[in-house]
Amino acid sequence: MILYPHLSVNEQGHLTIGGLDTVELAREFGTPAYIIDEDVIRQNMRIYLKAATENFGAGALPLFASKSLCFKEIYKIAAEEGLGIDCVSGGELYTARAAGFPAEKIFFHGNNKTDRDISDAMEMGVGRIVVDNIDELYAVSDEAKARSITQKILLRITPGIDPHTHKAVVTGSVDSKFGSAIETGQAMDIVKRAIAADNIELCGLHCHIGSQIFDVQPFSDAADIMIRFIADIKNTLGYTIKELNLGGGLGVRYTEDDPQIDYAAAISDIASVVTDFCAQNGIAMPEVRLEPGRSLVAAAGITLYTVGSVKEIPGFKNYISVDGGMPDNPRYALYQSRYTALIANRADMPRSYRATVAGRCCESGDLIGEDMDIQPARRGDILAVLVTGAYNYSMASNYNRIPRPPVIMVKGGKARLAVARETYEDLIRLDL
Ligand SMILES: *Cc1c(COP(=O)(O)O)cnc(C)c1O
Repeated sequence: MILYPHLSVNEQGHLTIGGLDTVELAREFGTPAYIIDEDVIRQNMRIYLKAATENFGAGALPLFASKSLCFKEIYKIAAEEGLGIDCVSGGELYTARAAGFPAEKIFFHGNNKTDRDISDAMEMGVGRIVVDNIDELYAVSDEAKARSITQKILLRITPGIDPHTHKAVVTGSVDSKFGSAIETGQAMDIVKRAIAADNIELCGLHCHIGSQIFDVQPFSDAADIMIRFIADIKNTLGYTIKELNLGGGLGVRYTEDDPQIDYAAAISDIASVVTDFCAQNGIAMPEVRLEPGRSLVAAAGITLYTVGSVKEIPGFKNYISVDGGMPDNPRYALYQSRYTALIANRADMPRSYRATVAGRCCESGDLIGEDMDIQPARRGDILAVLVTGAYNYSMASNYNRIPRPPVIMVKGGKARLAVARETYEDLIRLDL
């Protein structure tokens, strides 16, 4: 086992995922390629569903935050596992519906939904629109009025929590582009307006404090602030908030230095804050939604590359260059995210070499990681980067006109294409 039980090394010393030899997978599908172990995603979805319903009650529902990994098949898996989903754009909505995902289990997010997004979402009949701000509240109200429907909404609230994660992934502080803050009074104001707004049914509140958070305390604190706010709304306005969406953000183990979170235990801890408060204050337990993205899909994925140039600069660094980089994994460039890398065809050897793994783009910042401990590498080796299931494929670009890699799903000892490799033809398809 390497970091996770589905990653191992076989007799030939090759890295395996879901029991399949990654060197064989690289030969069959080419590189770079994303490989996703479907069983890991399904297991994680089951852990969340079970823990959510056991701890928050039968009405609880985890929503897969599909911005973390988005293509048709992933929505089919989420539907089969009984989860709802969170979509943040018209493109995600379109993909989910193309995959046959039930509209009523879609929660539509985003801090700046366009008029077209709002209209598309209503046309599809999404379950909830999560309204970010006052401006958007009236845009949603107007569209619902024009359609003579009542749109069910949640309001995005910023509880004012500092979750001690990278500042680029903090989303629940007062000064944020997301949501309305309790602290400034704007949250109560938007609640009042939502209750009064035409063609709107205010069902619940939403918060999402950030991402890649290992400590449960910020989630418990956020849950505490939100449930008190719900009690405050009941006391001052006489209005019952029936749904509480606590967002996503639980952390994932990317390297041996990261802890492995017990997600079921974390959910149980957070739930006790909400259930205790409701019991002590005699208020009805809201229906709780959780919105995990990363913690459902990150560990399931790896990326396979072929090693090109290996360069040693005396007195400085060693560089291993691969046939991908920031177009398929921009996370180091964005957040200095740390990864585990290995030479897949010598995975049984010690990681005794220290190198910067570089991509192939014309940018010095195009790195997979600096000072990574890895096996000594040579041209033609297969290099695997682990834990790339979240925010890799979904953030991929065509920078330098590099076609996006395919997504290969592994299940029951078999591999199949879920997303084909982009071709050069695909790259010029929209060029007129
Ligand atoms: C990104 C996001 C999530 C998922 O966050 P993870 O860290 O991937 O679990 C959930 N809810 C909202 C609103 C988000 O923006």
